[in-house]
Amino acid sequence: MPLDIRTIPCLSDNYAFLAHDPATGDTALIDAPEAAPILAVLDETGWRLTDVLLTHHHYDHVDGLAEILAAYPARVIGAAADAERLPALDVKVAEGDTITVGEETATIIDVSGHTVGHIAFHFPASKAVFTADSLMALGCGRVFEGTKPQMHESLQKLANLPADTVVYSGHEYTAANGKFALTIDPENPDLISRVREVAEKRASGTPTVPSLLSEELATNPFLRAHDPAIQAHLGMEGANATDVFTEIRTRKDNF
Ligand code: ZN
Ligand code: FE
Repeated sequence: MPLDIRTIPCLSDNYAFLAHDPATGDTALIDAPEAAPILAVLDETGWRLTDVLLTHHHYDHVDGLAEILAAYPARVIGAAADAERLPALDVKVAEGDTITVGEETATIIDVSGHTVGHIAFHFPASKAVFTADSLMALGCGRVFEGTKPQMHESLQKLANLPADTVVYSGHEYTAANGKFALTIDPENPDLISRVREVAEKRASGTPTVPSLLSEELATNPFLRAHDPAIQAHLGMEGANATDVFTEIRTRKDNF
């Protein structure tokens, strides 16, 4: 039975997620931007929080943790590589490790770039990946600590997951990302129609997260550095995808 996943808006534009295993009742929280909205969903559902999965150390992904742990003594899982900057971890993980939430297994993917030590959690049976500030809807996180080639490599790992995987990313940045994407890939009909759908959703206050990986592959410029139309638009025909990605990410930094 797949995980039952709830998207929880937090702070001004963050998302946290609860992933509940109906078979065992175990429930994981993915990131803890602030306690109140998360505790409210736990109250409303009656789900028992058993695990907290942390993607990276930024305050807007961990600041609610202490208050949540005071209410639920859950197991905290995060990157071994970032253990000294994360809140106290019960389980330290690295690329290729697996963890379980109830009867579901997740594989850890190192997606360093935004920070060094940023990880994603892939639940293949539930076709879900929690990417926070690595792969985002129509975008990717700013490269604060790693290098742009490293971010490209990280995103390629996510791009290679099954295309029907649902991408649970960390922020509602999709409308702004779409505006930028159109400057890179202006003729892409899938992008044009997606940007229109995003505007409609935002006008009615509907989250644009999660999104489908197949949709990101078709429209997210950060997954499309190999695309001939994008390369031509940038005057980079035949360039290697890492260089094209670096150019796209640099343009976004200055957008
Ligand atoms: Zn971040
Ligand atoms: Fe963030």
